[in-house]
Amino acid sequence: MSGKELAEITKEILSCRICRKNSVGTAVPGEGSPRAKVMFVGEAPGRQEAVSGRPFIGRSGRLLRTAIKKIGLAETEVYITSPVKYLKNYVTPKPADIVHGRVHLEQQIAAINPAVLVLLGNVAVTGTLGKKIAIMKVHGKYERKNGRIYFFTLHPAAALRFQKFKAVMDTDWLVLRKLLREKKIV
Ligand code: URA
Repeated sequence: MSGKELAEITKEILSCRICRKNSVGTAVPGEGSPRAKVMFVGEAPGRQEAVSGRPFIGRSGRLLRTAIKKIGLAETEVYITSPVKYLKNYVTPKPADIVHGRVHLEQQIAAINPAVLVLLGNVAVTGTLGKKIAIMKVHGKYERKNGRIYFFTLHPAAALRFQKFKAVMDTDWLVLRKLLREKKIV
C-alpha cells in the first residue's frame, strides 16, 4: 500500500496545531466516500460547519448538495471538503492558511484518488492547484493535470448573493453534468 489512508489523514487534521491556530469551533476535515470519483472543494467552514464538524451544511451547503443531486450524484458517493479546515477568528482565510491547508488537501486527494475535482471559487483554485486564476475567467472550463480533471466554477455563496451568479452556476453545472456523463460517472 502506498500513501496514507483517508482515516489517518482525517485524524491528522483533527489534531493539527497549525490548522487550529486562530480558529474557532471544531475542525471540518470533509465528508463522503473514501473512493469518490468526484470531489468538491470549497473555501473554509462557516459558523454552522464549525459547530457540527461537517462541511457545507449551511445555506451554501444546501445549494451545493441540491446541485450535486440534480446532476445525478448521491451525496454519499462524492467527497466534500475545503482547503482550510477551520473557521478562522478573522473569518476570511489568509494566504498562509490556504498554503497550509493545501498540505492536508493534497493528501486527501492522493488517498481518495478522484477522477474529477470541482473547484468552487478562487480559494479552492489556489488551495488545490497552488496558483491564482480568476474564477470568473475560467468558470465552466476545466484543466487536466496528473491524470485528473479540475473543473472550475463559482462558490455557491456567490450564487446566493447575486442572481446573475446563480445563472452562471446553473450553466456551469450543466457543463459539469455533460462532462461526468462523458466519463460515465453519472
Ligand atoms: N463554505 C465552504 O467553502 N465550506 C464549507 O464547509 C461551508 C461553506
